[in-house]
Amino acid sequence: MRLIPLAIIALSSASPAQTLPGMPAAVLPPAQPWSGASERLLAAANDPWITPAERAGFATTPRYAETRAWLQRLAAASPLIRVETFGRTAQGRDMLMVRASKGGTGKPVVLIQAGIHSGEIDGKDAGLMLLRDIALGGKDSLLDTVDLVFVPIYNIDGHEAMSRWNFPALRGPAEKGSVATARGINLNRDYAKADAPETRAMIALLRRLDPILYVDCHVSDGFDMQYDITFTYAGWGRYAYHRATADWLTARFGPTVTTALERAGHIPTLYPSPIDTRDPAKGIRQAPEGPRYSTGYGDFIGVPTVLVENHMLKPYRQRVLGTYVLLETALTLAATDRDRILAAKATDRASRPATMLARWKPAATPIGWIERFKGIAFETYRSPASGRLEQRWTGKPIRFRMPIIGQDPVETVTLPTAWWVPAEQTEVLDRLRLHGIRFDSVATPRTLTLDRVRLRDPVVQRAQDGRLPLKASFEHVTATETLPAGTIRVPSDQPLGLLAAALLEPEAPDSLLAWGFFPEMLAPAPGTEDFVRAPLGEALLAADGAVRTAFAARLAADPAFAADPDARLKWLVDRLPARNGLPLLYPIRREL
Ligand SMILES: [Zn+2]
Repeated sequence: MRLIPLAIIALSSASPAQTLPGMPAAVLPPAQPWSGASERLLAAANDPWITPAERAGFATTPRYAETRAWLQRLAAASPLIRVETFGRTAQGRDMLMVRASKGGTGKPVVLIQAGIHSGEIDGKDAGLMLLRDIALGGKDSLLDTVDLVFVPIYNIDGHEAMSRWNFPALRGPAEKGSVATARGINLNRDYAKADAPETRAMIALLRRLDPILYVDCHVSDGFDMQYDITFTYAGWGRYAYHRATADWLTARFGPTVTTALERAGHIPTLYPSPIDTRDPAKGIRQAPEGPRYSTGYGDFIGVPTVLVENHMLKPYRQRVLGTYVLLETALTLAATDRDRILAAKATDRASRPATMLARWKPAATPIGWIERFKGIAFETYRSPASGRLEQRWTGKPIRFRMPIIGQDPVETVTLPTAWWVPAEQTEVLDRLRLHGIRFDSVATPRTLTLDRVRLRDPVVQRAQDGRLPLKASFEHVTATETLPAGTIRVPSDQPLGLLAAALLEPEAPDSLLAWGFFPEMLAPAPGTEDFVRAPLGEALLAADGAVRTAFAARLAADPAFAADPDARLKWLVDRLPARNGLPLLYPIRREL
């Protein structure tokens, strides 16, 4: 194939990364020809307010410093634009936000962010064009009833680590930022655990602005298809945890934005997340979403949130123009629907769900079909690199029937009345405070009957986003105990009760426990001599009928256990009543 000579040339000198001129265009499948009405949005070459990306013909995207300088020049030229900062990155860069406003207090805010995955930077260059047209191009009526806050680059440290080898499947710009932060944290997995300073700044901003619409701009991966601009919401709307904001998104946002994009010559659809990129006909997946994601977080806090996923193989220029149309339409719609959105947010925050879905699995039969999915044909060829059949997308448009694979519930947790957090769990309390979850601390000791959770078979997972996640199953036991003064009570009866449940219920996939926040639970208890352990165990068996029965059952059911003196003594010693802070015992109590 044509690539081989290029590879030989590259290998004949130093390293490919130093000698290849960039991702060779021939690596990517053929682009679909495109033109559309949105091209009229482009500034003329001699326009003094042409954006850096427009000036470069969308071959490149401006760095942080150039972006900041361009925005500051716009702010100096227009009273509608202010450049502010709202935090600092891990490497110490100022996190920028642009406030576009006609003034006046209390106007609802639309919050748009670009570059959470900094190589997927379409939103930045679209936002610069839109801000220019709002400030100087006659589109200031977009700000009559709402304010726009625009974060041009969320993951700035990643953005500045630009390379032609980042995101090689994206058709432009030439150099792109990295997916994660300087600490290797994917910010779109960090909303719940909030480890990165960037996340903490964003959550504080979300709380300060409490936007009526939150838009998070990405570029997709996956497979080739005809669609250029795709978008979705938490759980595709279908599996959202809060119904009213999800219903507004599906009933109002989706149709309005789709119509506007089609009028502008784009090919939009709801983001199709593939089951198997090597076999697109297997269908697309729709599933619930935890608060680790922007969309999931928006759902849990009752803010309508949109994920934009431009298709990676569309040229950068086309992607930016489509993003512009989507963002402008979102702003117009938010202004029109502001009272409906405010009502939906209030409904969600007043809701008090009694249960929360914690685990699910793919449903056996499709929940729907896309009858004529606008796909692209592919062939396969034997790759000398991989030694197996690989896909070669031909560029030929095809239509096929695509199943939508939904999810069946596996485990649903019932929310307790409250969670009790020991005062020493400072990391947990810090996260509750950051998210704005209400809690009180008790002034005097309290004796309560509480649900305690014991881990079974915990397994530390592969490192992810700066954490060592934990998988386990759980055993719930009721126990009466006296909690000291200073213990924190987190009631579930509050607007963020569902978010509290997502963080504190051990079964929840984005719980702090699942993210590995309690490593002390995995350390073995301090040991003691067997000549002490054995009589302690004997005394416990004599004194506690429940323990005696459970021990006998275990001996009968598990011959390996029965034959293991250490396991038997450990099992007994773990159940001694005075040993609080037991290994594998979840420190957070549930008040039923
Ligand atoms: Zn992304």
